[in-house]
Amino acid sequence: MSKKIGILALQGALEEHESTVKNAARNLGIQVEIVHINRTSQLSDIDAIILPGGESTSMKSIGRKLGLFEPLAERIRGGMPAFGTCAGAILLAKEVRRNKDEPITSGMMPLVNMVIIRNGYGRQKESFEVPISIPELDLKLDGVFIRAPIIEKVKDGVKVLATFEDQPVLVEQGNILASTFHPELSNTVAVHEYFLKKVQ
Ligand code: GLN
Repeated sequence: MSKKIGILALQGALEEHESTVKNAARNLGIQVEIVHINRTSQLSDIDAIILPGGESTSMKSIGRKLGLFEPLAERIRGGMPAFGTCAGAILLAKEVRRNKDEPITSGMMPLVNMVIIRNGYGRQKESFEVPISIPELDLKLDGVFIRAPIIEKVKDGVKVLATFEDQPVLVEQGNILASTFHPELSNTVAVHEYFLKKVQ
């Protein structure tokens, strides 16, 4: 049976996630249908959700107006697999700093037990590509960071799957994956395969 993979479609780039999920599914021999999510009525029907990169502040205000975050957080809390990349990871963090020196505020869907700093690398290092290794997946990839956040701290229940400069860049908390880089823009579909394996 085909699995319905939602991609949050409030703002940001969906196409690369869509093609990467399709390629990953093909590799795993599973059927997927992609659903662009921008209404609460769609949430009961999906088997997993991807929260893409983009601008978390825009996503926040659009998602709030649509009343999407509470029911979506509820589904994820209930075990639905979720994968947040970059701005998507910010939406899933329990604690967020708007900037390095700003105080901690509660995230939009406070699910992943971590503190994340928006635009954590600052202006000097806005966008960059570095090799990232993910031992758990026996994988090396080119990590693409675009105005990326920094995961300042992970707390109980969060497993760090990859780091860059000693800071976590890919983390897992049960049914949730979050990365500060964009695996959908890298040279492999293996991270999406790992995510799809969570979808039953
Ligand atoms: N800097 C963006 C934000 O704070 C995230 C950038 C991205 O998703 N590539 O929302």
